[in-house]
Amino acid sequence: MKLIIQNLSKTYPNGTQALTNVNLEISTGMFGLLGPNGAGKSTLMRTISTLQDADSGSIFLDDLDVLNNEKEVRKILGYLPQSFGVYPRISAEELLDHFATLKGIHNKSERKEIVEALLQQTNLYADRKKKLGKFSGGMKQRFGIAQALLGNPKLIIVDEPTAGLDPAERRRFHNLLSEIGENIIVILSTHIVEDVSDLCQNMAIINKGEVLVTGAPFDLLKEFDGKVWETTIEKDLLDKHQEKYPVVSTRHFAGKIVVRAVSDLVPDAHFQSVSPTLEDVYFSYIIKNEKQKAEAV
Ligand code: ADP
Ligand code: MG
Repeated sequence: MKLIIQNLSKTYPNGTQALTNVNLEISTGMFGLLGPNGAGKSTLMRTISTLQDADSGSIFLDDLDVLNNEKEVRKILGYLPQSFGVYPRISAEELLDHFATLKGIHNKSERKEIVEALLQQTNLYADRKKKLGKFSGGMKQRFGIAQALLGNPKLIIVDEPTAGLDPAERRRFHNLLSEIGENIIVILSTHIVEDVSDLCQNMAIINKGEVLVTGAPFDLLKEFDGKVWETTIEKDLLDKHQEKYPVVSTRHFAGKIVVRAVSDLVPDAHFQSVSPTLEDVYFSYIIKNEKQKAEAV
């Protein structure tokens, strides 16, 4: 199964160009769409989910013309939107049962079985009678996955599912996502590099509506081999370093600052070669794109 997005563009009525000529080929497995806030991730997710129109371009899931077959798509789609509202006064079990009916599962005992299995799978079975208003952020997101899994979807879209989760909940959520079948397409949009490095076989980096690069995290990392450099400096030298070197990130460590830079050659003798991380790759592409945009103005 393949999802092929071609030349997709979208400008909102207020003039914001959210997607510019997006091309992506997404195979089965987990695909990470990584980009900062405002990159166009949710716009793309909503468009694939048929909740919103594009101005131009096409999306095909194998032979299925996604943008012109809303009904067919919704039958095989599981979607967890970025802001997933739940009815606070009813229980997880009741709401999931309701969603299951909407998804077309009309046989009562079959529905009961499916709902129970999904509550087990998302580790919510013990809390199934609890009102959703009493759920923590992580529990709500797991409930969101439970409803997205209803009806055995072939395409699952989860939009920023780990934003706002604490580390333990994020790990639990990662485990849950990693157990979703390998024979379906899962698209995970996120601004958190770790989500992608932990979970995704393939990925794209998106910024300001444009896809900057796509590939397997492993291959993208390989391209940065021997090009990432690190040095530890006193705080007051930071501005100078930012000006002088191709810095991609900085972090505080033991009262000093660790500076990472990306360049083909060693930036200066006090830098040491380090192994690239996906964060280096991500920041490097975003910074390069921002620079190009600034120069084009
Ligand atoms: P992301 O999910 O990556 O944060 P979005 O798709 O939400 O990005 O937004 C992309 C751009 O489109 C942003 O500049 C955002 O402000 C704008 N945008 C999103 N939705 C609308 C809308 N309904 N009307 C106008 N502009 C919008
Ligand atoms: Mg978003």
